[in-house]
Amino acid sequence: MNQFFLTLANAGVRGLSPYQAGKPIDELKRELGLTDVVKLASNENPLGLSAKAEVAMVKAMADLTRYPDANGFTLKQRISQIYGVDAKQVTLGNGSNDLLELIAHTFASSDDEIIFSQYAFVVYQLATQAIGAKAVVTPAKDWGNDLDAMLAAITERTKLIFIANPNNPTGTYLQPEQLANFLAKVPENVLVVLDEAYIEYLADDENPQQSIAWTQDYPNLLVTRTFSKAFGLAGLRVGFCVAHPAVTDLLNRVRQPFNCSALALAAATAVLDDHEYLKRTRAMNDAGMTQLCAEFDAQGLAYIPSKGNFVTVDFGKPAAAINQALLERGVIVRPLAPYQMPNHLRVSIGTQAENDTFITALRAVLATQ
Ligand SMILES: *Cc1c(COP(=O)(O)O)cnc(C)c1O
Repeated sequence: MNQFFLTLANAGVRGLSPYQAGKPIDELKRELGLTDVVKLASNENPLGLSAKAEVAMVKAMADLTRYPDANGFTLKQRISQIYGVDAKQVTLGNGSNDLLELIAHTFASSDDEIIFSQYAFVVYQLATQAIGAKAVVTPAKDWGNDLDAMLAAITERTKLIFIANPNNPTGTYLQPEQLANFLAKVPENVLVVLDEAYIEYLADDENPQQSIAWTQDYPNLLVTRTFSKAFGLAGLRVGFCVAHPAVTDLLNRVRQPFNCSALALAAATAVLDDHEYLKRTRAMNDAGMTQLCAEFDAQGLAYIPSKGNFVTVDFGKPAAAINQALLERGVIVRPLAPYQMPNHLRVSIGTQAENDTFITALRAVLATQ
């Protein structure tokens, strides 16, 4: 039967392996009979929910028997005001994952090529393969996106280029000038998706909203953002894409009508105004990054300098055993073997207490390895 249904699936899907998410806390508790588990595996915000988002959701609960606003009017208005774009440029998604897939579905099919880097977010590969398009993977440069290699890889068949900046799982960052030069050279019939899931972690002076403003100059540029990371709403699933109105119109033809729930819309609108929350998020992330990197330095472990809310550390040998030993001590981090980085583990920045727990566990594990 398995074989039978496999032959029914479309060719791209036959070769797919499902996305491997970070291990849920409850699953590890069940498996190992643990009571205290720290999860630093999915780049979630350790600060807890924004109070403004919580109030907005409680209010929205009164209307949960109704469908949500299919056009997300209020959230789009707020995004339009804050980011200085026309609401006609904004597409909302059930997380930015939804948008990445939506973009691939809308523009590419089996005759097309999609370019992304080695060590890129695995969803690019999944979205490409699910529609039967050809993945063109360019070699990484210093663990990050090599824009020159991407330009060189463009052919007549290229439809899309996916670039995460900062990059996940490596944390590398392309400077705005590098991206601007790149965009100026990409032919206008090739769409560039700039996935900025971690952009809010950059300091204010490093993080102008210029990439979103570039959508005025480059009609082939799509910028995706998420509420899952710095805005702390990963469990709700909401993200947005800013692009040319004509591109946005196409995305809206393919999008599911109610792809953002009423609670997600309410919380996302509220958290955009919670400047205090974002400030505390960044401060906690900066402190945690310093804490973890100092520990890695002290242990003589190499790591990839990161602009995100995670850091990827190199054990110089396959890290599966270290990962397993950390799990047994109740600490979940992300093994990167699926990214062909078997010696690395990616550690999300937690609260100071969570980071302490990780550090204590790591010291104990390394003492026995
Ligand atoms: C976490 C992440 C996302 C966001 O996913 P959501 O679906 O919005 O939760 C997108 N891109 C990258 C590179 C990420 O790491």
